[in-house]
Amino acid sequence: MTDVHEATKVAGSTRELVILSLYPRDMNIYGDRGNVLALTRRARAHGYDPVVIDLNPGDPMPAHVDVVIGGGGQDSGQGRVAADLLDRKADFHALAEVGTPMLLVCGLYQLFGHRFITHTGETLEGIGVLDVETRGGSDRMIGNIVLESDDLGEIIGYENHSGNTTLGPGSRPLGRVLQGAGNNPTSGEEGARTRNVIGTYLHGSLLPKNPAVIDFLIGEAAKARYGTFAPSVEVSETVTRARASAKRRPR
Ligand code: GLN
Repeated sequence: MTDVHEATKVAGSTRELVILSLYPRDMNIYGDRGNVLALTRRARAHGYDPVVIDLNPGDPMPAHVDVVIGGGGQDSGQGRVAADLLDRKADFHALAEVGTPMLLVCGLYQLFGHRFITHTGETLEGIGVLDVETRGGSDRMIGNIVLESDDLGEIIGYENHSGNTTLGPGSRPLGRVLQGAGNNPTSGEEGARTRNVIGTYLHGSLLPKNPAVIDFLIGEAAKARYGTFAPSVEVSETVTRARASAKRRPR
């Protein structure tokens, strides 16, 4: 993954964006690290200098963070990071409250909610940045998934989870499910948003196929740090073709 760390070579820039990559050792399933790659590449194309900081259990929190990004993992991986995340609860609430954009996929989506109760009945306490709760079920929801969102257009990804997530009034869904399961088999909704924090079940990786989500993350970070954001990057033909191909695939 040298590509990701190439970004850290840029130092002392006036247009840096600090990306905090959460628990890449334990929470990096179905290519979620690809989200960090896509984010850094598109940030560079927009004229910013992304600096990626990996945060694994026990690591110090950086002094400044512009974007937070985290992936999924098995229940065992979630068990390894849950206590460390709880220790940082106040830090992440403070970041969310000032509007820091965050993308948390699957396992970390669940732990950014109030709690994840596994299918064996164990409770992993979450940090409650998102107003959601998840219960492990006996059936897995697996396959390509397509959502329709109000401000980020059609979002395309791949889900694989047994957790059933329900939203409280403090979060709104990321989108309505056009194909697939989403938060649970009955709600017809996927993901959760509170302020600029997005939780979602979509792997894929998600970001390479969804530049509108990247531009939301970079845009909110850039506006908070530099006052403006003028998107200047076209969407490539490869991305358009990847989206079309993922949509055609059966579940
Ligand atoms: N253990 C969780 C579930 O299956 C998370 C899975 C994941 O991150 N892909 O619900």
